[in-house]
This record gives sequence, structure tokens and C-alpha cells, in this order.
Amino acid sequence: MNDWPQLESKYIMHTVNRVPVTLVRGEGARVWDDNGSKYLDFVGGWAVTSLGHCHPVVTAAIAEQARTLIQVSNQFYTIPQIKLAELLVENSCLDKVFFSNSGAEANEGAVKLARRYGQHYRNGAYEIISTFSSFHGRTLSMVAATGQPKFQQPYIPLPEGFVNVEYSNIEAMKKATTDKTCAVMLEPVQGEGGVNVPDDDYLAAVSEWCKRKGILLILDEIQTGIGRLGTLFAYEQYGIEPDIMTLAKGLGCGVPIGAIMAKDSASVFVPGEHGSTFGGNPLACAAAYATVKFVLDNDICGNVSRVGKYLFHGLEGLRRKYSCITDVRGRGLLLAVEFDRDIAGTLLSGCLDRGLLVNQLKPNTLRLMPPLIVDNADVDEALGILDGVISGIVG
Ligand SMILES: *Cc1c(COP(=O)(O)O)cnc(C)c1O
Repeated sequence: MNDWPQLESKYIMHTVNRVPVTLVRGEGARVWDDNGSKYLDFVGGWAVTSLGHCHPVVTAAIAEQARTLIQVSNQFYTIPQIKLAELLVENSCLDKVFFSNSGAEANEGAVKLARRYGQHYRNGAYEIISTFSSFHGRTLSMVAATGQPKFQQPYIPLPEGFVNVEYSNIEAMKKATTDKTCAVMLEPVQGEGGVNVPDDDYLAAVSEWCKRKGILLILDEIQTGIGRLGTLFAYEQYGIEPDIMTLAKGLGCGVPIGAIMAKDSASVFVPGEHGSTFGGNPLACAAAYATVKFVLDNDICGNVSRVGKYLFHGLEGLRRKYSCITDVRGRGLLLAVEFDRDIAGTLLSGCLDRGLLVNQLKPNTLRLMPPLIVDNADVDEALGILDGVISGIVG
């Protein structure tokens, strides 16, 4: 058999320290490696495989579209793109969509849109306020928006026009707002930066502030959108409406696609101002349409909310049992478990040996983001494995 890790190190740039498993197949919440070992997948492609691996509805939509029309360019009308846009608009507070191929690309477009808005309505204001410990993507501008030094420092000088302030601190945001500000960009719950849930009134206060100042609220729902937190979009839980919202991860159930959504009042692009070769191609849009339609028609959000609570309570139980667990946080099926020491790597390996995939968020923190279709039995299995592994490490 091929030594895949060795071939990988020969041919692929070393941008990630991979978990020593080569995955070859997936079905629902389960994946298999090249030795035939099976794992319960609580990473879900980083909150991407919303309906689980190779969901039959998504697979059928991809196969059908692949036989019909894959790509023609955005000079022409294509039906899957229009149908997906209609579905997203009719089920959100936003009015218009632009499709991209990834999250970072959607956020880039959102910032361009906000800058056009600033040129039209805010005297050329161009600055975006984002937050520390956020994550908005890996392009140069999104690195500037991402308030984490480890992503920024290797690439200075960064594009200008981004200001980072403390998350869940409305006063910091107010202080940073100037005549140059055109928008605020936030995750409703910070994902990569730690699964940080803001204070209950924070998002409402930000929304109110943006309205008062005439600046745009951009919600980055790339990780939280499409049911992850138990509602189709996270903003629904906070009683606010963004002017611009970006989506990606769970939207295509594994097929690369991103989206910028905006209220009519913020949809200021005119022909030629933004574009994409692959964005909104029929293949990706057919996969995303099948995904979102299934989420809506089968009350997947209700499942997330119920199973998410069940998982949260199970993790709380582990916290009471093991004093090394210092925090359990998150919403829906985006949860983190923090420890009083740097054992996340050791725990991850232990879980791997017992057939559970988890994500190491920080040296002392694990993140759980299983497919949205998991049930209580899957959660029991994961909790049992975690329990065994933690007890094996701390006694
Ligand atoms: C993953 C993520 C991104 C970046 O998406 P890519 O598809 O990797 O470019 C941006 N924002 C948030 C909140 C994310 O979780």
C-alpha cells in the first residue's frame, strides 16, 4: 500500500500538521480510513458536512447536475443559481445574493460591497471594525480583519482599512467608530477563535449602534449559518438583522461554495464591480440547493437544537466528573471543551484510537462540530469515548 503521509510530505506544501489518518470514505456521521478503521466524525470537515458525508440527496443532486451542466460562466442565466438564491432570500431577512467559492472570498466581497456603500453614502468611509480572536479567512484582507496576531504577523504589511477591537465589548466598538468607518464585521459566535459566545445583549447593542451611526453590520455566518446553532441563521437567535451576511462552510455540504447576502439597501454593486469565474456555478449551486432544502424540509434546525442541548449537558456531566475540565461552551452543535492544561493533542490521539474524530482548537481546548444529522445515540457514543480517554489521562 502507498505511504500517503510520506508522499504528502514530498509533494504538498507543509501548511498544516495533519492528524495521522488517511480518510477514504464517508457515510452520514461516519468515515473510514485506508486501513478500514471506522470513526465517528465530530469534526465534520470543520463544520462543513452539514447533512453528514455523502448524503444521498446531495449526492443525487450533484450526479444529476454533473450529467446536465457543470459550468458556463456568469454571462448567462443558469437555473440552479437562481433557485438557490431564491431559497436563501425567501428564508432570511436579506434580499440579494452573490455567490463565491469559499468563505474568505465571500468576506472579501462583503468588504468590497461595504466600501462601495461608504463611497455612495458615507463620504468615502472605508474602514471595517472587526474583533480580536475572530476568524474571517486567509486572504490578505481577511487576515487584516482576523484579529489574531499569529495570522497577521507573518504577512505584514497588511492591507489598510481594518481596525480590531475586543469582542463582546460594545464600548470598544463605539470608541473605534469614526467618520472613516463604513461597517462592522462580526461572527455571531466566534468559531475558530475559541467558540466564544458573546454576552446576551452584545449583538443587539452592536446592531443598534450601527443603525444609529449609519454604518453596515456584516455578520460572518460562514461557520454559524445553515443550522449550526439550531436556527437556519444565528442572527435569528439574537433578534437582530444584519445588512450583509456571508455564508460558506455548511452551505454546500462539502461542495465548495460561499455567498454574500445583503439587504436591498446595501446591495450597491453595479455590473462590472464584482465577479467570479466559478462563483455560482450550476454544480455547486445544485449541491447547496439540495442541502438547504433538506435542512428546511426536515427540521434539521430542530434536531440541532435538541441534540446540541443533549451533547452540551453530557459535556457538563463530564465537567462535573473531571476537575481538569474548566469550561464547556457554545450553542447548537458548535461546542468547545476547555481543560486546565494542554492535553487537547493527547486527548485527540486517544479519541482517534477509540474511533472518534475531534478538533483541537487550542492546546487546551477541543471543538466539537458534528454533522447536523447526529442523534442522541451518536452523542452517547462520543461522550463514552471522551469519558474513557479523559479518565485514562487524568486518572
Ligand atoms: C472558515 C471560516 C472562514 C473562511 O472560510 P474559507 O472557506 O476557509 O475561506 C471565514 N469566516 C469564518 C467564521 C469561518 O469559520
